Amino acid sequence: MGKLSPSDIVHGKITRISKSGNGILDYGTGEISLGPILEEAVGTEVDAVVYDENHAFCLTGAVRTEYYDNAMRAQTRQLIDSPPDECPGIGDTVEVEIGSINSAGHGYASYLGIPIRVKNVPQGTQIGQIISVKVLRIEPSRLVATGTAVSLRGRLPEVGESFRAPISHKTHSGNGIIESFIGHQINVGPVRDEVLGDHVEAVLLDDQFAYCLSTNATIDGYRNIWEPKVTEIALDRSKELQQQLGRNDKPERSTSGRIVRPVQRRNSSFSKRVHRAYDHTCAVCGQRWKDDSGYFEVEAAHIYPVSGVSEEDPLEGGPDSVQNGMSLCRTHHWAFDHGWFTINDDYTISVKDDPSLEGYEAMAPYEGQQLYLPDDQSLWPARHYITFHRDHVWTG
Ligand SMILES: [Zn+2]
Repeated sequence: MGKLSPSDIVHGKITRISKSGNGILDYGTGEISLGPILEEAVGTEVDAVVYDENHAFCLTGAVRTEYYDNAMRAQTRQLIDSPPDECPGIGDTVEVEIGSINSAGHGYASYLGIPIRVKNVPQGTQIGQIISVKVLRIEPSRLVATGTAVSLRGRLPEVGESFRAPISHKTHSGNGIIESFIGHQINVGPVRDEVLGDHVEAVLLDDQFAYCLSTNATIDGYRNIWEPKVTEIALDRSKELQQQLGRNDKPERSTSGRIVRPVQRRNSSFSKRVHRAYDHTCAVCGQRWKDDSGYFEVEAAHIYPVSGVSEEDPLEGGPDSVQNGMSLCRTHHWAFDHGWFTINDDYTISVKDDPSLEGYEAMAPYEGQQLYLPDDQSLWPARHYITFHRDHVWTG
């Protein structure tokens, strides 16, 4: 068998996971690494696109880890580092011919030879039809775009604000999902089958959930099913709010006199999952303080910042996965975000060697120390996010 070439599609079985967590695909006459895939996927048959002789991008979504896309974009840098001259950028609108449409309403197209996955092909589009699509993401081996007939807004509405957007698809359990906001899938609860693609009115509860106001779109009993969920979310939010206020985060006062917390629209369960994984302990100093009302002092830090590192950051920021997080006390969170220390591949700490920094004495003793990590090793910080922090955030 000849050597594999970039963009060849290979098919085979995942035989094992390497020590560094990458799935190994046996494609019959050789092996190739697929990047970070789920452990339970060993034995599964998958397709992958080759991007160099040792690495391929897995096309079978079900076996990829939560952070697969970002990891692969960070590692492969294909398309990203050397996009063809005519490659459209994020936010560009191009006209493409739809080659196929799957049952979920997503399509495939190509633009000057670059494969494009088109999310939310506008309803009624025929195979072979030319439509406008807007580029959302550049992945190692393809572009991801959306049909522009779908109202696309870069930003989420405010929490509590109502908005109109189309139902893009339904989950197995029958909940409607809105995909109009880049980077978010908003779950509006159980909706009728007929409303797929229809615009509905909803109120945003957080970055994952909304309450649907269009009663003709929701199933009978929607209120009974979805309201308890809404309450649960509201309670979580109020707990978080109290926690923030308790830490004198200087809440802003709105004109109506209501206290609102500083704008922070993160995945509310991220901090919970990180805190639980680390048992509320600072990964650097091991501190585990609790106030009188039972709130722990630690914070959930992102390793690869969610906001990205600059306007031009092609990776759009890191995900809200526990593997991209660490629980840290306030001081160490601040020091980590400001690049005063970083994490090595063996999970030891490197401190910026600059005795002129005020506070250096407080940080220096941690040089070479091992992090306090979760018992469950699968929740440890993922190598690629640590590398990212070292390369882009650490100032040492
Ligand atoms: Zn600490």
